[in-house]
Amino acid sequence: MSQPAFGRFFLPGPTEVHPTILAAQARPMIGHRGKGMEKLIADMMPGLKRIFRTQRPVYISSSSATGLMEAAVRNCGGKRVLSLVNGAFSERFHKIALANGLEADAFEVPLGQVHDPNAVAERLRGGKYDAITVVHSETSTGALNPIAELAKVARAAGDVLLLVDSVTGLAGAPVETDLWQLDFVLTGSQKALALPPGLALGVAHPRALERAKATRNRGIYFDLVEFENYIVKHQTPNTPALSLMYALAAQVERIDNETMEVRWARHRDMAHHTWTWAQQQQAKGRDVRVLAPEGFRSPTVTCLTVPAGKKGGEVNDAMKARGFTISAGYGSLKDSTIRIGHMGDHDVAELDVLLHALDEVLAA
Ligand SMILES: *Cc1c(COP(=O)(O)O)cnc(C)c1O
Repeated sequence: MSQPAFGRFFLPGPTEVHPTILAAQARPMIGHRGKGMEKLIADMMPGLKRIFRTQRPVYISSSSATGLMEAAVRNCGGKRVLSLVNGAFSERFHKIALANGLEADAFEVPLGQVHDPNAVAERLRGGKYDAITVVHSETSTGALNPIAELAKVARAAGDVLLLVDSVTGLAGAPVETDLWQLDFVLTGSQKALALPPGLALGVAHPRALERAKATRNRGIYFDLVEFENYIVKHQTPNTPALSLMYALAAQVERIDNETMEVRWARHRDMAHHTWTWAQQQQAKGRDVRVLAPEGFRSPTVTCLTVPAGKKGGEVNDAMKARGFTISAGYGSLKDSTIRIGHMGDHDVAELDVLLHALDEVLAA
């Protein structure tokens, strides 16, 4: 099977995986309780910590990101959770809390919007909640929540833990796990990390770990206390997805060579390029708008309105016919929007080729 050229696949997850990373998976198996495994994890741990900007160990879960969302609420949710909802993935976080038997109230804002820290502080008054669930970069709308400010609000409220899904944030948008004192932050391998799907990564603040230890019925597979106990020995609680770990180790090295600052700047440039392009579409008389308001847009994914008379799915298909993969809108935005995942290992030059094709599709 011949490989299509790199730079044509812009789904907001899974994202395009570099050939060297794909190749890194094709290595023989090793025992997961042996020295080889410990070396594999020990060698990549400093780089993983640099990606999360933390001194804490980074947990490696052989699951998709949803697994660690479940771990977050189950270990750290306490009894009552405030779920900040502004799209499909934050809604999923709320549902996961409910499905795990927690009392969870949804605090909804319209699609495309983000949460105002003052309004959240208001909701926290009275001390009803033990934790907050929030999505950093809402992949269904391209909106970016102000996580640093929300973390301050959670701290000020006392014993309230902030549980952050940064699945399309981390490794594309700045995340300062220690500086912002995030209680739990998680991501998945197949978004801005540009790895194949199947791994989730997370970091727990000591106070989140204390909450977990005091929580009954944490289950087995997503018990954060177990993750902690094993990762300090450079192991995982169960047999890990070893081939994906090889890919992760290779990608951590690539990211380390790029540096986080340069990686963030590259994502910011791709995002700005997309937003400027949308403005140019408007100048051509096409109603193409960035759904999220200025100042609250994700650097990794943009959700664009499609002009009246066209449908997200049709635009998507026309792009496919030209050899490009983007995404139709998500959920209720399916017909009215398209989404471009400008994240992972893409750059402005590749994005430019895509936007040129999109311009032709919208002109047709
Ligand atoms: C993709 C995504 C998820 C779900 O990830 P899975 O790996 O499919 O479990 C959760 N949250 C956000 C914001 C996402 O973009």
